[in-house]
This record gives sequence, C-alpha cells and structure tokens, in this order.
Amino acid sequence: MVKRFSVPRGTCDILPENVMVWQDIETKARQILHTYGYKEIRTPIFEETELFARSMGQTSDVVQKQMLSLQSQKKSDEQDLDAGGLSLRPEGTASIVRSYIENSFDKKENLSKLFYLGPMFRGERPQKGRLRQFHQIGAEAIGPGSASPYLDAEIISLCVNILKSFGLNNFKLKINTLGSAQDKESFSKKLRDAIKPQVTALCEDCRQRFERNVFRILDCKNESCKNIIRKVNISDDYLSAESKEYYVLVKEALKNLNIEFIESPHLVRGLDYYTHTVFEISDSSLGSQDALGAGGRYNNLVTQLDGPEVDAIGFALGIERILLAKSKDPMPAPRKLDAFIVALDEKSLKEAFQILNFIRLAGVSSDMSFKLSSMKSQMRLADKLGAQSVIILGENELSRECVTLKNMQTGNQEEVSINNKDYNQLSKLLLERHS
Ligand code: AMP
Repeated sequence: MVKRFSVPRGTCDILPENVMVWQDIETKARQILHTYGYKEIRTPIFEETELFARSMGQTSDVVQKQMLSLQSQKKSDEQDLDAGGLSLRPEGTASIVRSYIENSFDKKENLSKLFYLGPMFRGERPQKGRLRQFHQIGAEAIGPGSASPYLDAEIISLCVNILKSFGLNNFKLKINTLGSAQDKESFSKKLRDAIKPQVTALCEDCRQRFERNVFRILDCKNESCKNIIRKVNISDDYLSAESKEYYVLVKEALKNLNIEFIESPHLVRGLDYYTHTVFEISDSSLGSQDALGAGGRYNNLVTQLDGPEVDAIGFALGIERILLAKSKDPMPAPRKLDAFIVALDEKSLKEAFQILNFIRLAGVSSDMSFKLSSMKSQMRLADKLGAQSVIILGENELSRECVTLKNMQTGNQEEVSINNKDYNQLSKLLLERHS
C-alpha cells in the first residue's frame, strides 16, 4: 500500500473557499496599521534558538516545552543547521527586535513603528483554538520615542480597533502594570512570600515556577493552582511612584479614547521581557483558549539583546482565534467571474484561447473549459463559476468573424465582432459591463 499523507497534526490547509476571509482580515489589518503609521516588516520564519531563549526567557513555557527546532542531515558545511541551533519562530517580537538592532533602526529614526503578519510555530498539544502552526498580526513600536504612556494607549487602541474592524465587539480588554524592572523584582518577592505557605499544594510545574519565575504561577490553568492564586491578595505597593504615575496616564488616555478596560492585578503574561503595561484581549465564547491577542511594554529587551537603550511596546493578535470568534458571521460571497468562454469545436477552441488571454490582459476575470464538451455542460460550468457573461464561439460565429455574448443576468444575447482577430470591442464591452 502506498502511504497517503495528511496535513501535520496541529496545522491546517487554508482552502480556496476560506481564503477570502483571510485576505479580508489581512487587508483590513494592513489598512489600519498604515493609518497609524506602522510599516510592514518580514523576517525569516526561523531564527537562532538562543534568540528566543534570551528574549522570552529560558524558563518560559514556550522555550521549555514548545520550541520546534530544526534538524539537519549534518553536512560539514552546514554546521549552523545543527539540531538545536535554529528554531521555527514561536512569536514575532524577538525577530523584530533582532532585526531592529541588526539594521540599526535607532540611527535612522527616533521611533520605529513596525508590523508583521505571518505564521508562528509552537509544539503544543493541539486542541480547538490551539495549533502548532498559527498566524499572527503583530505590531511593535521601538525607539527612544517609545517611552510615552500615549504609545501604550495607541498600541492598545490599535489592537481594539483592528478587532472591531473585523466585526468583533464581544471581547474584554484586561490591563495591568508590572512596573519597572526593579518594581518587578519586588513584585516577584512579594508574590513569593504570599504563595510560600501553600507551595506544596501547587502542581509540579508551579512548584518549579515558584523557584524559577513565580509570575508564571499566575498563568497556570490547573484548577487547584488557580484556587490558591485567586486568594492571593495583590496590592500595587511594589510599584514606584513613577510607575504608578505612568500607569495612571495610560488609563486616563484609554478612557479619553472611550476604550473600556478591566484592571486585572493577576495579569502578568508569561514572558520575561514584559515591564510596565501588559494587556490581554479575550472572548469568552471561545472556551478555554479565549485569548484573541495580547501585548505589553518591554523596555529592557533591546538592551538585553545587545542593542541600544531604547524602550518598546507591542502586541500580537491570533488570526485563527479571530476566525473562530467570527465563525457565526455569514461567509462572504465567493468571487464571481466576469466572463466564461464556450467553444464548440477544435477550431473555435484555438481562437477562444487567444480571446481568453486577450481579455484577461485587459483586466476581465475569465476562464474556459480547456477540453471540448457539450454546450450544455460548458454552460453548467459557467454557471457554477458564477460567470456574469458567456462568450459563445462555434463554427457559425467563426465563419462570420463574431462571437455571441450572453448576459447571464438578463439572458440577452448580442453578436460582437472579432473581425481580423480584433478583440478590443469585446473586451471594452465586458469591462464596461463589469466595472
Ligand atoms: P501569545 O504570544 O501567546 O500571547 O499569543 C498571542 C496570540 O496569538 C494569542 O492571544 C492567540 O490569539 C494566538 N495564539 C497563541 N498561541 C496560539 C496557538 N498555539 N494556536 C492558535 N493561536 C495562538
């Protein structure tokens, strides 16, 4: 038996009937991001594994459990492809910051506003809304000019407005602040003191998190850990006066933009690089994987990766989750074809192929059946493709150097000249009809 292949677990094909929804999302997102002054950047889908480990944190779940690393057939001249050296990108921020530093963006502009769109990869256990290859729309604002609470508000409102442009309205925005790197240290100590008496009741993973990075306990999905965490009182006394003031300004700016948010002291986000504002947008109708997107400030990441001392903030939205949230929407109508050419014999087929190529170059979306078959079956195909007009070409038409043009909506037919193989009149008519 010959093996029949399937799409790898946790990935999926985006079939032609669904591709329009994707294109619609991508177009709308690009338009909005451009209006806010963000420019698209495309980085490779794999990077050095160490880049992700150094930026997301060696102890983060993504780096510890979900990295998909490349393995090569070790040839002597391809040592850089050795197992563990390179990994598929699990997120976009690390790559964008790598590129920012490598291309000295800081020497060119005070504030770099960049966005990306593309696939990300994580070796997770697949379930509804959780894939091994998924797609994100993300934006980052990096540079000395990024140190402003208004930019935090811009990034959050951009995220909210992109979701609204997709017709989503039933989502919740949660925000919190982690404060500066120093505040985060004291937050970590306070959290550790509060959890310590119950550490033995935590799950195995959280007992390790307690030692390595206590914040991650707040993200644990285990019910008993959630119960313990729920009872931990988190006050904002770990924040410096400066950090408090910064957060007040962010909230004020959001209120002035009429953006509703819920303050959530338990929201810390699982990655090491976050400082100050963090946020998450979720839609409860999605079940356990309810996050549509998330983001936050990461003021120390650029220096941590040996770049200049500049601040930064960003977000990422998951396209598959957006589609799940939108799945109650009717599918957009499939694109229609302007014209379909029906050829009734070999000689007509030859000419029909020339006409097809001529009108296509003129901008008429069109097609034909490339093999001869009955008029009835060709008309059926034209109908299936949603053709607005049908061009009929047979012995009769050829002898009179014309085609029969049928309007499929009205049923009206007319003859159009193709004298001396001049197809201009035909393509002009079609363009007028379908403009
Ligand atoms: P994160 O970097 O984990 O905060 O991811 C940002 C967004 O990407 C999430 O809010 C989800 O919408 C989406 N996302 C993350 N991981 C996955 C996954 N495994 N499958 C599908 N979407 C995901």
